[in-house]
Amino acid sequence: MLLTISTEHYPATDLGYLLHKHPDKVQSFLLNTAKAHVFYPESSPHKCTACMLLEIDSIEMVRSLQIPGKTMMLNHYVNDRPYVASSFTSTAIAKVFSSALNGNCKERPELPAIKMPLEAKISVLPIKGGEQMIHRLFEPLGYRFESTQLPLDEQFPLWGMSHYYSLTLRHTLRLQELLTHLYVLLPVFDDEKHYWVDKNEIDKLLAKGQGWLDSHPEKTLIARRYLKNIKGYARLALEKLRDASEDETALEKEEETSESRQKKTSLHRQRLDAVLEQLKSFKVRSVADLGCGEGKLLKMLLKENQFQKILGMDVSFAALQKAKENLYIDQMPPRQRERIDLIQGALTYRDKRLDGYEAVAMVEVIEHLDLDRLQALERVLFEFTQPRLIILTTPNIEYNRKYVFLKEGKFRHDDHRFEWTRSEFEQWTQKICEQYSYEVKIYPIGELDAEVGAASQMAVFKKEL
Ligand code: SAH
Repeated sequence: MLLTISTEHYPATDLGYLLHKHPDKVQSFLLNTAKAHVFYPESSPHKCTACMLLEIDSIEMVRSLQIPGKTMMLNHYVNDRPYVASSFTSTAIAKVFSSALNGNCKERPELPAIKMPLEAKISVLPIKGGEQMIHRLFEPLGYRFESTQLPLDEQFPLWGMSHYYSLTLRHTLRLQELLTHLYVLLPVFDDEKHYWVDKNEIDKLLAKGQGWLDSHPEKTLIARRYLKNIKGYARLALEKLRDASEDETALEKEEETSESRQKKTSLHRQRLDAVLEQLKSFKVRSVADLGCGEGKLLKMLLKENQFQKILGMDVSFAALQKAKENLYIDQMPPRQRERIDLIQGALTYRDKRLDGYEAVAMVEVIEHLDLDRLQALERVLFEFTQPRLIILTTPNIEYNRKYVFLKEGKFRHDDHRFEWTRSEFEQWTQKICEQYSYEVKIYPIGELDAEVGAASQMAVFKKEL
């Protein structure tokens, strides 16, 4: 396993001070089941490159793994660990570059705070989930990258491609940041750990994720995989993260972990149930879920034979990608696969692909549009597409004062452009009906409070005959 870190920061030799390893020497370190060697193939004021080469002793590794009641099989001895970046690499980074990882530099204490252009090359990275995982994990942190998927065997091209990639990352940041990102994320790509994961891992994750993990859009995936898919641990870690963070505005997540959720169905589930109920009662056979997100409603629709033609549309490629995974689209039997289409599109532009669906659902979507774009959506849906049934939900802003975590004047989600009171929502629906010949009924969703109403509101529009 080879990890290379380079910089063209001037003088580039600062890298040697930061890593606490002299550029003129080759140094070796004995780890539990491996040896790490650090050396510099180049070191000048203009460019400096440090390499960490990790030699893993597969046999020692297997012996040191004490898994109660498990006998070791041959494939435990013959494996890819010596060649790939994995949790071993993280352990090696923590041991070999511990001062740099903790942001210390005795000789030049001012250096760790300096942002410099850094390039990290990982010779072989095993990725569960394909190249899109690199986009999902590194891009939100500001990295640019180049990756090459490696063939299973260069001599037998017909065998196809492997799940191994070589990866080059570039970014201008502090070396400590780069190292903590690598420390946490390398095992996340791989989704394997060479040691037994226990609760101490949560603290390691939180310590190394400080300052970036909480705002990472994939923090749930990261926590789940880092903590080896032990769901309870991931939840605990995410709760601790949230406790530590002052400005948690994503209240939906609050709902998901609050105590009340143990007893009640989450608000979001109630919304989806309410929409599904309406779609069933109108006996429609085709439905377009617009702003489908990660496909929660689509999953419910697929379970009902009544819905023969289902469309999921979203403007976000990442959301669609997740929907694809959540619905196991690629593994679906052909007849099931024929029932559903996923497309990328914006609701503010007329789109012929929406024609022919009897019903449209839009769960918690309109509030994501700027008010001046909402009119474009109205025309697309009610004037051009004109399905016989349109069901949409949106928050009731009056209810926000019941959320103690929500700072006054803040919306429930960072990306909400507006939230309406019950009467604002009603006025809007009335205007639509007059303009486009629809009838509407409005329903509260969630527990009803005498003063402020329910948390969410749903409008069911029926085309006038
Ligand atoms: N309906 C889903 C997701 C709600 S979040 C659910 O209930 O779980 C809002 C979704 O609307 C996001 O996935 C966002 O990408 C999508 N969205 C926002 N603006 C959009 C637009 N103009 N066109 C299409 N989708 C949009």
